[in-house]
Amino acid sequence: MRLKAARLSRAASRAETGPTMVRSWDDLDYDILMGIINRVPWRCRLYVACLVSKSLLAAVLDSLSPCGVINLTVIDSHKLKNNLDFPRFQRRYLCFLKHMLDIKPVDSCSALFIGETVLKPHKYVYIAKRTPSLQRLVISEALGYRHSCFMQAMRYWRKLKKVKCPVDLFVFCSVCFEKVESLQLFGVVNDAAAIAIRDRCPRLRRLYLISCALSVTALSTILDGHKRLEVLDTRHSFCVRDCSKTARIGISQSVEWNEEEIRCKAAGIKLHLRCTKQRCPKCSATWKCCYPKMKGRLTNYRYWKYI
Ligand SMILES: [Zn+2]
Repeated sequence: MRLKAARLSRAASRAETGPTMVRSWDDLDYDILMGIINRVPWRCRLYVACLVSKSLLAAVLDSLSPCGVINLTVIDSHKLKNNLDFPRFQRRYLCFLKHMLDIKPVDSCSALFIGETVLKPHKYVYIAKRTPSLQRLVISEALGYRHSCFMQAMRYWRKLKKVKCPVDLFVFCSVCFEKVESLQLFGVVNDAAAIAIRDRCPRLRRLYLISCALSVTALSTILDGHKRLEVLDTRHSFCVRDCSKTARIGISQSVEWNEEEIRCKAAGIKLHLRCTKQRCPKCSATWKCCYPKMKGRLTNYRYWKYI
């Protein structure tokens, strides 16, 4: 309603004054306009700039996904900590995002970054239906093991090539990962997850299992199925005998995997990153957790709130 009122007001003003030499925002070159908008803070874009003119509104909408990238980390509360009404801002941003998705061609977005703010499942579905050509999906480690909110949306993304997500999401939706070439997982890689990585990602070339808890045979199982892996990153990962006990809290004692076997199977990998336990402060710590960056465990309900 406010947008419509602003437009009507400007039209009335032009009708009263007649032709004038003063140029409007709509006469400005669109690339220059985008350059200006990209320098304006988000709050001003969504509450002020969008009301100035039609072309500024279009530029604001375009700035929501520059180069086909939707970046939901801009609504993370830690980035808005100086604004007490950040929930209102988050809703405003999502309202504009919905409008942008409705007017853009469905194949215009190729990447989605999800931060620590969790949306309700139907909102991810709405985004997914309008981004079927998504190739890159990045879910923040701050969400820890939370994955159920993404599961309905995943079935719309069948062209993913580069993914970072919780292990459980990968296991439950692994049919969506058939074209994945680069995969970063966080969480507990038990035997079932290792088999899924081995069997369901035939195009995998780069695998990142940083700070993960791995079952004793997980790495060996994965390497059995990926002879053409180019990058394997297992920095800060640790091996556990019982994955079910490790899942969400962490452990005080890890076990050693068969170094000789892993070295043999990983011999053909161009880049194998891993830690030397004694030299790495994270790996030599007494308490190990596979969700070191997770925010808002049960004590902090704010992070559990879905918007
Ligand atoms: Zn380490």
